[in-house]
Amino acid sequence: MRRIIRGRCWLGMYVILCLLPVAPASAVSFRGLSLNDLMAAYGFIGPPSEYGRNIVFRSRTATVVFEAGSRRVTFNGLTLYLNRSVEKTTGAWLIAPVDAADTLGALCFPGRALKSVGSGTVVLDAGHGGNDPGTQGVAQHQEKAFTLDIAKRVRAKLRACQVTVWLTRDRDTFVSLEERCWRGSKLGGDVFVSIHFNATRNPSISGIETFIIPAAGCPITAEDERPRSSARVTSCPGNRFDGANAVLAHYLQKGLLAHSRSEDRGIRRARFYVIRNARCPAALIECGFLSNSREAARIADPDYRDQLAEGMARGILTYLSRVRELRLPPVRDS
Ligand SMILES: [Zn+2]
Repeated sequence: MRRIIRGRCWLGMYVILCLLPVAPASAVSFRGLSLNDLMAAYGFIGPPSEYGRNIVFRSRTATVVFEAGSRRVTFNGLTLYLNRSVEKTTGAWLIAPVDAADTLGALCFPGRALKSVGSGTVVLDAGHGGNDPGTQGVAQHQEKAFTLDIAKRVRAKLRACQVTVWLTRDRDTFVSLEERCWRGSKLGGDVFVSIHFNATRNPSISGIETFIIPAAGCPITAEDERPRSSARVTSCPGNRFDGANAVLAHYLQKGLLAHSRSEDRGIRRARFYVIRNARCPAALIECGFLSNSREAARIADPDYRDQLAEGMARGILTYLSRVRELRLPPVRDS
């Protein structure tokens, strides 16, 4: 992601959010902020352009496309899903405050989102293992073998850059979800990345998805606006890092797509156990569909898996460097 406004301006963003008028809840499913006012305050100057159900905001360095009645947004060409739909009512576009702060706000002003997170240790979680093979592809490949292979490749690349890395498993053994979280915390993880591969009944679907948890009370991507289970409404430990999760996912997805040339299926929302219970910023990556014969053949190629690992490592390194950069003490005149 390119920087829109320098990271240290996060305090200004917080003031902006407090000053923006809030639309009444009766009009939409949430108390919305004016999208035009918000984007202007975030540095997207000039009138937005509207076509069909879309509205496009441009700044000197970024382009963001919203769709009326949809959670889907394109941010500098990358797809991500908001916590709530953007709504258009009698000519006014509205966005949920939680997305203004912890999604768009985090991407435009990462300084606020990253101000209390660490950059020392990365924990990689190879999905499945042992008697849990994960999904089985069209060529009978087992997900558990590919996840461990990618985790080891990413570990090697990060260690070559002097990053401390731990794996929640480094062999073909079963590790429970609870144990994975416990190990991530005990190992002092500042970043937790869970690695998986996907499968679906539709064999034509392919591409990469990066998951983060929704904000408290907000639905997962696969649901409509009203969560069906009250258990999903409550806050999870991982919600402490909503803004940092969005920044981490953005760099991961960007790195993966750049190195794999795979289809962008977006940064999505789900409450998977290992990311909702993480004690640090966390994301779960579905690195491709083993149910798609063409993508499964690519994944079976070690060279392609190395490209995936390179993209993942680049995403993590970019995230860590942003955290460290924002922590640097201000330069003083001597
Ligand atoms: Zn899996």
